Amino acid sequence: MPVLIYPAGALAPVISQATIEYHYGKHLQTYVDNFNRLVKDTEYETMTLREIVIQAPEGPLLNNAGQVLNHALYFEQFTPYPPANNRPNGTLQNSIHFDFGNFDTLKQKMEEAASTLFGSGWVWLAQEESGKLAVINCHNGDNPLRHKMTPLYGIDVWEHAYYLDYQNRRAEHVKRLWEIVDWEMIESRLNI
Ligand code: MN
Repeated sequence: MPVLIYPAGALAPVISQATIEYHYGKHLQTYVDNFNRLVKDTEYETMTLREIVIQAPEGPLLNNAGQVLNHALYFEQFTPYPPANNRPNGTLQNSIHFDFGNFDTLKQKMEEAASTLFGSGWVWLAQEESGKLAVINCHNGDNPLRHKMTPLYGIDVWEHAYYLDYQNRRAEHVKRLWEIVDWEMIESRLNI
């Protein structure tokens, strides 16, 4: 089970303590339990989680492995509200400017992608093998690693991520998340 690196109430009011308690404590715990049960005594048991997400065929093991990795990255990418620094800096800022023009354009692209993703899934800022940044939609438990890309910042658009706090207002939730992104963490995920 990935460790939560801040108290459950630390992201409020952007994400409430109740949502973190359900999302981290119940949803992620269930993915972890299912994954551990499904991987036992298989050829995947000795692989890393990332290797499994890249190599496992479609099915329950991949679904749960993908969601464990997605959520490990998700919970680790936020910083207590209000954060000291919530803008990209350094290499990441340069890459964003080079590939999107500016930070606001990146935000707009991710917000649009999150609004138009039908059903459950994730919107990712990801890095292609060439180093270029891209915004991609992943359905259900899919992850950029399946598409030869490195996951950098992931927005969970499954309803369990926001329904307690925002009900059907997914767009408002996604917009507010910018207030708690730990951009140093995101930058540390770059392949450079
Ligand atoms: Mn989730």
